[in-house]
Amino acid sequence: MTKKREAPYKLLQLEALLKRLPANHPKRPFLEQEYHKRLAGYRGEQEIDFYLNYVSDHHITCLNNIRLNYDSQYFQIDTLVISPQYLLILEIKNITGTIYFDEQFGQLIRIYEGKQEGMRDPIFQVQRQKNLLLKWLKKNHFPLWPIEAFIVISNPSTIIKTSNTQPLHIVHVTKIPEIIHHLNKKYPPVKTLTPVAELADKIAEMNQPLVTDILDEYAIDPGHLIKGVRCPNCDFIPMKKIWKKWQCTKCHFISQHVYETSLDDYKLIFGNKITNRGLRDFLKIRSRSTAWYILQKFVTEKKGTNRKMDYFF
Ligand SMILES: [Zn+2]
Repeated sequence: MTKKREAPYKLLQLEALLKRLPANHPKRPFLEQEYHKRLAGYRGEQEIDFYLNYVSDHHITCLNNIRLNYDSQYFQIDTLVISPQYLLILEIKNITGTIYFDEQFGQLIRIYEGKQEGMRDPIFQVQRQKNLLLKWLKKNHFPLWPIEAFIVISNPSTIIKTSNTQPLHIVHVTKIPEIIHHLNKKYPPVKTLTPVAELADKIAEMNQPLVTDILDEYAIDPGHLIKGVRCPNCDFIPMKKIWKKWQCTKCHFISQHVYETSLDDYKLIFGNKITNRGLRDFLKIRSRSTAWYILQKFVTEKKGTNRKMDYFF
């Protein structure tokens, strides 16, 4: 069973931000680059899913984009394969060019278009994930499964080189079925039933995705964003209100139900807390009662009194 991989939150945030950033904003080229880098990373992760699904083993469960906390240390795992016999951490790297692992110095060097660039050592990274996951299992009273870890290069044309003579745990994505096959043989079937489903549930429950303030992170002035209702059909902002309906002046799409995409933008850029005034300002609507109507539809919780009410959605 593989849980459908969701797009990383940061990717969605960048997407929403770019939709609301004027075409001539000075930060735009940089943010577009960031967006495409993360999109390529996400595509690489989806590539992994393809090979994992290819392994038709009903005993394994795959969890994606996990972020857990042990003793106030956070650790993030791209993909965790839970088998009754073992746990397998897959750290997914989308790197193009030639990569060279220098184990002696704990360094990863990437050579691309004639340039050399030092990168964070993924071997150290997975070692840390392994150690923390083991402690986490212990703390949450799970049996201590053997943990295996591999760094998966999602780009099939990347050339992997190493200074090490020992077999490295760095593989191309196409090797995944082979790895699972090998691990299934290495760890014989267990006699006592390991709580695979319980572990998967507990991880899902304790998962703490990282949510950051994207405006703060990229130092974007909120006043520079394009406000108004975004057309769900062509992304043009703002739509025009004609009686009870909204019309797009660009693609002529007409509908009453147009708020969801704009509220998604708000949530991704500013977070899930909004006021009536904040909503009117963001959607550029004058009527307090229209704002109230929208809030009633989308809000799940409210705090405060009357005019000082904060809405959560
Ligand atoms: Zn449109």
